[in-house]
Parts: sequence; C-alpha cells; structure tokens
Amino acid sequence: MRSTQIRSTFTDFFTSCGHQQVPSSPLIPDDPTLLLANAGMNQFKPYFLGETPPAFSRATSIQKCARTSDIDNVGRTNRHATFFEMMGNFSFGDYFKEDAIAFAWELLTQGYGLEKDKLWITVYEDDDEAEHLWRRIGVPASRIQRLGMEDNYWSMGVPGPCGPCSEVNYDRGPAFGKEGGPAVDGERYVEIWNLVFMQFQRGEGDKKGNFPILGELANKSIDTGLGLDRLAAILQDAENVCTTDLLLPTMDTVQNLTGREYPGRGEEKVSFQVVTEHARSMAFLIADGVLPAKDGRGYVLRRLMRRAIRHARLLGITGPVLPAATASVITNLGDVWPELAAQAALIEQVVTAEEESFTRTLAQGTRLLDAAITRTRESRSAALSGETAFELADTFGFPLELTVEAARDAGLTVDEDRFAVLLEEQKKRAKAGGKAKTTEALRKMATYRELAAQLPRTEFLGYDHLTAET
Ligand code: ATP
Ligand code: MG
Ligand code: MG
Ligand code: MG
Repeated sequence: MRSTQIRSTFTDFFTSCGHQQVPSSPLIPDDPTLLLANAGMNQFKPYFLGETPPAFSRATSIQKCARTSDIDNVGRTNRHATFFEMMGNFSFGDYFKEDAIAFAWELLTQGYGLEKDKLWITVYEDDDEAEHLWRRIGVPASRIQRLGMEDNYWSMGVPGPCGPCSEVNYDRGPAFGKEGGPAVDGERYVEIWNLVFMQFQRGEGDKKGNFPILGELANKSIDTGLGLDRLAAILQDAENVCTTDLLLPTMDTVQNLTGREYPGRGEEKVSFQVVTEHARSMAFLIADGVLPAKDGRGYVLRRLMRRAIRHARLLGITGPVLPAATASVITNLGDVWPELAAQAALIEQVVTAEEESFTRTLAQGTRLLDAAITRTRESRSAALSGETAFELADTFGFPLELTVEAARDAGLTVDEDRFAVLLEEQKKRAKAGGKAKTTEALRKMATYRELAAQLPRTEFLGYDHLTAET
C-alpha cells in the first residue's frame, strides 16, 4: 500500500466515525515550552488541559513531527527518523478505552489488513481494564505484555491529566531479532501505535519524578499516534523507514550522487540513511520557517544539515548534495505537503548556502579531527580533549554532537565538561567585548542626539523598511 493510501485510509476511517479532520500544525509550535512539534497531541494541549473548550469532541490529524532526540538512531535502528508523520485520533471527553481499542483493532486488521497473530499488545502494568478489553476483542493473553512507567505511562511532566498507555506492536519475524515480544526486542516487534488513556489527575511531582494521583478525571480523553513511516515500512515490506516510498526517491538521488547502490548493511548503510533521512527533515523545517542558527530550532536544523553533509563526504560525494536531495523530497512529497512546493526556492537557497559555508571548513576540520583521534589513541587515552572539540566547533563549525559521533565511531569519547568550560569562557569574553561596544554605541548616540537637535524633523520609516536580520 502506497503512503498516500495509508494516509487516506486513516483519515477516511476516522472521519466516518465522527472525527473532525484537523490539519497538521506547523513544526514551530504555538507553545513556548516546546522547541518543535513532536506529537499529534501538541496542538490539542489546551483542550486536554481544559484551557479552551474544543469545537468538536473527536478529531483526527496527520501531524508533522520532529524528534532530534532520535538523531543517533537514524540508520542504526530500522524505526527511527528525525522527521515523521504521526497519524492520530483524539477524544476530548468523548469516547474512552473501549472505543479507542476497538477503532485501532478494526483499522489495523481490516483497513490495513495486518495479520492478527503478528500484532502484540503492551499495557501498563496496573491496567487490567485495557488487558481485559484487548482479550475481549480477540488478542490472546500470550501476546499481551505489561510494561512499566517508562514505556507505558503518559503525563506532561506537570500537574494535570495523565494516564496509562497501550501500544500495538508488529512482529516482523525472526530475521529482525529475538523472540519474546516487544518487552524483549523493539526492532523485531516494532511499536506502531500508541494509545494514551488520559484517565487521572496528577499532582506536583518530587525530584525523582514521582507524583501523586489526585483522582479520576471527569472528562477522560484519548490521544493516539500511529507512525506513518513505520506502518509504510511494514505494508511495503521495506526493511526500514528510509526505504519506503516516503524516502526512496531521495535514496535514489543519493545513490546517483555516489554512483553506488545503497548497501543495506555496514557503516555505509548508516551514511546513506542519514543523508536521505535528514534531507527530508531539513526541507520540512525550512518550509515551516526555521533558519540555521547557533541555538534553538536553528541549531537543530544546522546540526541536521552539517551531519548530512559530513556523511555525504564519508560516502565520497565531493560536490553539492543537499540541493538535489531536498529537491527530491519536494518532488516526492510536495503534493501532500504543499508548503514544501511553495518554499522550494527558499529551501534550495538555505541548503546551498549552508553547504557552501560548511564545505569550506569541513576538510580542514576533518584533518584536525583525524589527527586528534590518532594522537588520542596513541596516548592510550579514551577521550578526545575538550580543546579539540572546541576548536572544531569554533573554527571549523563542527557541532559538538558531530565530533562526539566521529569520536564514538573511533571508539573514543569527548571531554564534554572541558568543552563546556571553554564555551562558557568564550561567552564571557564575548560579553565583555559587547560591553565595550555598548559604551561606544552610547557615546555615538549622544553625538547623534546633538546632531538631531540641530536638524529638521524626519519621518520614521522603520516599520516599512526593515533591515535584514543578521
Ligand atoms: P520508540 O519507543 O520506538 O522510540 P516512542 O514510544 O518514542 O517510540 P511515541 O512517543 O509513543 O513513540 O509516538 C507514537 C508513535 O509515533 C510511535 O508508536 C511510532 O509509530 C511513531 N514514532 C515515534 N518516534 C518515531 C521516530 N523517531 N520515527 C518514526 N516514527 C516514530
Ligand atoms: Mg522514542
Ligand atoms: Mg516506545
Ligand atoms: Mg510509545
């Protein structure tokens, strides 16, 4: 089943069950506590918290999600991407566990035709009700496992709604890993759908993260997330999220640029996947208004771009890679996500500029890094010095994480504490320099004021003519 049909099957199913179709929110969330949208429920948070009454009690969406926390997993697990589409259904005080479970089961087994005996369920360790409902629907006890807080409990980390989760996992067979269910192997038994049961009200937590349950919620709610990329991998019999129709055209582009085929294993496999997968994330981030920067969202974007460039060089691609790779993302997904097509020129401009500037220093930085790795090994030390990591960041534009990754590939760590000290010292120096500049600016202001007093009034045009931000 193609990804377009996977999406429409999902949306049709839930709209036919009375859910309001809601478009994805942008990746830049309308929520100061969140860097980037990372789940379908983000945009509905005010409804779940009871801050705003929703205009509908059931909703369905396909949300663009970014999870940089999964960056190191790309190419190393089959199931993680830094950008993915999360399909979800939501109940705001309307239906609860019984219907959420019934919807998921019907859609997976009938809508998508997944074999029932390949589906494994996890429930929260105390949630007898969920286990009972899954068994009633036909799942044998042998394919239901109980997991703890870490995997199967949801809360926003603050007083408010919380509750157990139940997840549906698909058994990809012995070629993918160990027997024994999702509790044993998350690669063989891929988690595809998380059903969150917002059931309780929690109080303030302690330092360890323990919190009291104050009681049941009057309006119990449902939040679910089914990963399109993972489901596509299963339905298309693709090994991983980079070899589905969502990313194959981009993988093809990378193959053309290297002149070689995606090897499907080894270290080169990781590099092929990193370039392919990060190209999609950067295209979506730029389309939603993120620009490369030293911190925040801009740093996330920069890190993705520089990491992709470095892995392209590891594959031996010497010429530009990001413009072609992102162009293939736009061609492939621009119909479903029109913002990509609308921002195609900006995407090309940003990735081209970043690749040009990073390429200027990458080769020199890589030489410094390789020499430092050799020295560190020779001295039988396990950690690359903070000084090297700092110089790589400061002079050659290597994000710290990139240095850490290269060191790790060579079996080394990085003295990150020393790096942090050096960075802090540099910030202090910059601040001191900034103070001198401020004094200078104040002196100039006084001169301008004197001048202005002698001149006729001028009209302020600043609101119409803004200078470019640097
Ligand atoms: P995992 O344990 O495999 O890292 P998760 O528990 O972090 O997944 P959830 O937060 O429950 O995932 O998100 C809901 C669904 O979104 C998952 O069941 C999965 O289908 C999808 N998903 C989560 N993270 C990713 C990712 N990095 N790439 C692709 N799909 C993802
Ligand atoms: Mg995860
Ligand atoms: Mg999980
Ligand atoms: Mg989960």
